[in-house]
Amino acid sequence: RAYNFNAGPSALPLSVLEKAQEELLDFRRTGMSVMELSHRSKAYEEVHNHAIDSLRELLSIPDDYKVLFLQGGASLQFSMIPMNFLQAEKKAAYVMTGSWSEKAFSEAKLLGEVYYAASTKDGNYRSIPKLKELQYHTDDAYLHITSNNTIYGTQWKEFPNTGGVPLIADMSSDILSKPIDVNNFALIYAGAQKNLGPSGVTVVIIRKDFLEQANTQIPTMLKYSTHAKNNSLYNTPPTFGIYMLSEVLNWAKELGGLDVIADLNEKKAKLIYDVIDTSNGFYLGHAEQDYRSLMNITFNLKTPELEKSFLEKAKQEGFIGVNGHRSIGGCRVSAYNAVPIKGCQAFREFMIQFQKENY
Ligand code: PLP
Repeated sequence: RAYNFNAGPSALPLSVLEKAQEELLDFRRTGMSVMELSHRSKAYEEVHNHAIDSLRELLSIPDDYKVLFLQGGASLQFSMIPMNFLQAEKKAAYVMTGSWSEKAFSEAKLLGEVYYAASTKDGNYRSIPKLKELQYHTDDAYLHITSNNTIYGTQWKEFPNTGGVPLIADMSSDILSKPIDVNNFALIYAGAQKNLGPSGVTVVIIRKDFLEQANTQIPTMLKYSTHAKNNSLYNTPPTFGIYMLSEVLNWAKELGGLDVIADLNEKKAKLIYDVIDTSNGFYLGHAEQDYRSLMNITFNLKTPELEKSFLEKAKQEGFIGVNGHRSIGGCRVSAYNAVPIKGCQAFREFMIQFQKENY
């Protein structure tokens, strides 16, 4: 298999793909594929509820939170959040740490009053604002953050304690990469296609008392309460994606849970950051060291010519997805949970060798 460093959709665990292949035509003696099961059948419902239970177990989600499986990607959450929670007389605060926060902000702006609680745009999104620099008001509808910035390669290392202000986080690119305290958040959302499974499912974890405050005058499908009341089975859910998610969660549990996964992710990212840091400026990391993402490692080479040749050579050697996002260029290695450590080791060797040949 290729060394897959794609930013999303990204690598899935090989054992999960093999299991899906094995079960594809006859899912657990039903005589049909999981894709062909009715979403009202007992066999499917078991998969669905197992995925919810596993996510609860892995993230230690307390009982006063609901887990929802929605569609429309994280991008639809950019609109659903303000539709549900940005009431006319309130404002919402957004922390700007990259392109995805900008998109979340722009959508909310169409629907109500929003403002920046802080922004690191002036520093080309190399860092995350310090917690004490965040400016928001106690009567705000919510404070929105992006926990990992997939494009710029920065990550929040600690989260604000917002007191009474509901904290909402887009965790699309680092959910399940480490333990988190769900109690800090009123709502967490994530498109599945990085650490959770294939694209097509969006996970939302929402505190019940926050859910109760939502606007009721919006279309049925866009209300969180519709999905919460119906265990995410109001309409046909993305059944195959949820099945894959449940298998990825089984895999994460078998690996030993989020402490083990976090430790592995630290080791994987270190293999590559260490090469950058000891390269005497041959490789230039984009993110400031304190804010480096363990999921998306972004860097440049010292000249555009070298960078072009590096990216070409990486592709020839079978390292896929190393090009930076089309909006900023450069190089990006996405080392999500399913990327094996040997992939990062191989890429590290490749970087060292390339420098030797081109220094
Ligand atoms: N938020 C973050 C942090 C992302 O990385 C992405 C996609 O890469 C999105 C939102 C958009 O997600 P989707 O494509 O599921 O709408």
